[in-house]
Amino acid sequence: LRDQIRRLVRLQAIGFEIRDAEAAHAAGPVRIAALEEEFRRNMEEIGAARLRHEDLVLERQRLHEERESLQKKLEAGHQKLMQVSNQREYSAVLNEIDANRSSLATTEEGISRCDEEIEQLSAPAAEADERIEAARGEVERLIDEVRREQETLAERIAALHRQRDEIVAELPPALARRFEQISRARDGIALAAIDAGACGACHVRLRPQVISLARRSADIVLCDSCRRILYVPPEEPAQGEADDKPEDGRSLGDHSASAGH
Ligand SMILES: [Zn+2]
Repeated sequence: LRDQIRRLVRLQAIGFEIRDAEAAHAAGPVRIAALEEEFRRNMEEIGAARLRHEDLVLERQRLHEERESLQKKLEAGHQKLMQVSNQREYSAVLNEIDANRSSLATTEEGISRCDEEIEQLSAPAAEADERIEAARGEVERLIDEVRREQETLAERIAALHRQRDEIVAELPPALARRFEQISRARDGIALAAIDAGACGACHVRLRPQVISLARRSADIVLCDSCRRILYVPPEEPAQGEADDKPEDGRSLGDHSASAGH
């Protein structure tokens, strides 16, 4: 029975590993989404100079069109001025020309402000392009890393399932079923180490009789409170028994070695 308990301990450890690996695997897509989101946010920051530069180029284009239209209006105004027949018309056209001239001056100012800012931003915008490129490379590298981790985790999960199946195959079917039932009912924890006279899982103090039964390993002993299978933690019997049962020590070692891959 002591051997069976050891297999169960191993089984439970594998169960925990599977649970952790599956949780890590499930977190992969979330991590990828977070990286993409961070990249998008960075773009807004790093790319500010580039975006402003683009806006200014559009604004300058708009101002050039406006200038052209104002110049046409001015020309038309001058034509009209030569054709007016009375003083009132003359004043009206002259006012129109003045207004257009003033608008044209404003537009010209706007164009030179754009030119100036575009000039100032050309270096930062080019630098932003480089940083965007670098950030894109970096985020792609990180996402690839997560994808590779996902593959490794999937392989690991498959390997752990195989190990679990192997151990289950070595157990008496009734014991394996019982372990599975308790495990399912008790949040994946079917075994509880006896810890300072108490159940290591639910921490309820154990009767001395229960402890001595577990120590003798004559039968499966359950915690009175949480109904998990009790066992004496390996630290205690390990020294005394490592020499008694070298074969078991080796087979346990083999399992942990293969778990390391
Ligand atoms: Zn308990």
